[in-house]
Order: sequence, then structure tokens, then C-alpha cells
Amino acid sequence: MDQPAEIRPMKLHTIALGCQMSEADAEEMSAPLASRGFSRAESPDEADAILISTCTVRQHAEDRAISLIGSLKPWKAADPNRVLIVSGCAAERAGDSIRRKFPYVDLVVGAKSIARFPELVREALDARFDALREQRESFAPEAAPTEASPVSAYLTIMRGCNYSCSYCIVPSVRGRELYRPVEDILNEARAKVAAGAKEIMLLGQTVNSYESEHDGGKVGFGDLLRLMDQTPGLERLRFMSPHPYYVDERMLSAMAECRAVCEHLHLPLQSASARVLKLMRRNYTPAAYLDKVRAARSAVPGIVISTDIIVGFPTETEDDFQETLDFLKEVRPAWAYCFKYSPREGTRSASWPDDVSREVKEDRLGRLNRLMDELTSKALNAHIGRTVEVLCEEPGFGRTRQGFNAKWAGVTRPGEAVSLAVTGATKRTLLGEIA
Ligand code: SF4
Repeated sequence: MDQPAEIRPMKLHTIALGCQMSEADAEEMSAPLASRGFSRAESPDEADAILISTCTVRQHAEDRAISLIGSLKPWKAADPNRVLIVSGCAAERAGDSIRRKFPYVDLVVGAKSIARFPELVREALDARFDALREQRESFAPEAAPTEASPVSAYLTIMRGCNYSCSYCIVPSVRGRELYRPVEDILNEARAKVAAGAKEIMLLGQTVNSYESEHDGGKVGFGDLLRLMDQTPGLERLRFMSPHPYYVDERMLSAMAECRAVCEHLHLPLQSASARVLKLMRRNYTPAAYLDKVRAARSAVPGIVISTDIIVGFPTETEDDFQETLDFLKEVRPAWAYCFKYSPREGTRSASWPDDVSREVKEDRLGRLNRLMDELTSKALNAHIGRTVEVLCEEPGFGRTRQGFNAKWAGVTRPGEAVSLAVTGATKRTLLGEIA
């Protein structure tokens, strides 16, 4: 008598490239596959399906996506029943070229179609797995794996952007802002905490422009923080990335009064030359940005500011750059993500001459990084001799509420909150002992 074929659960390997939104998208898009019985594969070799979530904010992330898709040709050729899905911003911007160049990709889903992803993936998988009838038995939703969330989980509250910064590709690949309903956000937060998350990072391109209707009234970002703060078991709440324009009294008072909201504000500046900011179409002046920082510091004691800076934007002069350095000395962000400008095809600034030479960009980036190293070092050293609360993410490693990395010797479990007596600091990390 024939033995019945072994029913092997299908496995999904997920690769997120680029920004946090891409990581959050990958997590969200894994859900419909998990509900069909796919469990996690740690590597492509053991996977029946691969989902690549792409990012296009920087050319480098898009180039990595293209090279990764190319490198998966042998993986797909080894078993044509395998499924390769490419999603996200690069899929939106370069979807047609990906389909043409890599015909073995089963499904290309652009960032604007993420809401339709469950339907699209169902169509792709139904076609693929009709040939694997016996394995489909294991696709019942109850077979979905219940994997614990990491200590810190992402939660996307909005998609798209209504701004039109001249260097940014996001509005054209993600479209205008769409806000998730409050109830969906709160339910997802409860589910993530129930699965083990202690900290939630709210995500959106301009996360604090969030608005929605709830219980017959309007809910802005500050109101959402207050509602999220009531999530049982949630210890920390963070968000990324706010736009300076929407930092207002309601948001800051919620940050000050909500138990879980961390004392950290990552506020992208990009440049402190009023002329360059205008060309970037950032919609604020350096003076307005400084007002927001002062308001945040006065509303939320101990708040730490961090920022993003672009050097070498078209027409940026040495004086413009010097204004940025001087401004940063005044604002004293604790750290900054600093980038050299590079034109992104499809953006307004890509049609302007990229007239700051590579050498000058590199020189400015080096000087900026040296200044930021000094500011980071001051911010870290100010902790020495103090005791801070750290949420353990891996044994011996975690982050403070203000977002500083911390390391210590000794046994702690991920998810455990510990009091750390800070004894020293490296270039980017606090060192200490469990108090
Ligand atoms: S605010 Fe500007 S930089 Fe940020 S996503 Fe929107 S267009 Fe891009």
C-alpha cells in the first residue's frame, strides 16, 4: 500500500531592506502568509517562499534589492514551485523593470498596493499551490504559527506623505497620507503586547500628522499617544519619524503625561540654512525648528533630541554648511543620521545640477560626523554616575528610555527592565552594572 505523502508545512523567508517602514511592511505582509500555514524559514535554502520588502529612499537600498533579486535566480530555478514576492517602494518605483528583468519573480506588489496584498498573495498562491494539493491541507488559519513578538515591535499607523520635499521619492511611491483607524491600531498594539512586546514603535513617514475619527470625535497624534498609553502591559511607546511642522502643544503634553511614552524625539532637520531648507521644500525655517526643540525641552524634562542631516544638497555653499554646524552646536542633538546628498531619479532635485563635488561632500560629512561624535560623547558621559532604566533586548544589551544603547555584564532576560548604574561609555554605548 502506498504511504501517504508527508505533509510538510510551507516556509517563508522574509528579507526587509532599508528603512523601518520596510521592516514594518515585511512584518505586515508576512501575516497573510502565516495565516495560510507558512512558518518562518531562517534562510532561503529552507524556504518555499521568499518575500523581499524593498526601500527606495536611498539609491543604495534599491541597488541592494535589485542585486538580491538577481542572486535568487538559482534558488527559484532549483524548484519552480517556489514563490518569490517583491514588495515595497522599489517595487512601486521600478515594478515594470523588475518584471521585465527578472521574469521568475511571481508577484511584484508596489507600496501603494499594500492594502491589497492579502488578495494579491491569495491569487498568486492559489495558482501556485493547486499543484500541491496535499500540502494545502496544512493551510488552515488555525495552523498559523504564533511566534512571539520581539521585545520592541513596529506598528504602522499611516502610509504615504502629503509633503513634497524636493529630494524625496516617498510621495511618488507611497502616495498621499492614509491613516489606519484607531481601533485597528489599538487592537494590533494589544496583540503585539500579548505576544511579548514590551515596547512599540509607531511608524509613519510623518507619523505625527496622524488624524482619524474615533468615538464620534477627531483624534490627532497626541490623542493617539494617550489612547495607546492605556494598552495593558505596554511599557514603552516610541514613534518615528515626526515632522517638525506637526510638533504641537497637544503632542508634547501627551508625551509629558503618558507613562509609556519615552523621552526621546527624533526630529529630522536636514539643513540649518534657511535658503537650502527652502530649496528642499521642508516647510520650516531654522528658527521655527529651534522653537519646537525648546518647546519639547520645556514640556518633557530630560527629553533627548536626535536628528537627520543631508550635506551637499545642490547649491549648498560653505557658508550654508557652516550655518548647519553652528546650529547643531546650539541645538545639541544627542546623535544624528548624516548623509551625503545623492539625486534620486523621479524627484524634483534630480533635475538640478548635483553641483557640490564628491570631495566637498565627503569633507563636509567628515566634519559633521566629528561634531556629532563630540555631542554624542557629551550626552553619553553625562550619564556616568547615574542610574538609568534599561529595557533588555538581548542578554547584556538594551536601551534606555531616551534611546541610548547600553551594555552590561550579568544575566538578564530579553524583555526585562533593569536599573543600570552607569560606570562609563564607549563611542555610542553606555556601560554599567545592574544596580
Ligand atoms: S516629509 Fe519629506 S522627506 Fe519625509 S517622507 Fe515626506 S516628502 Fe519625504
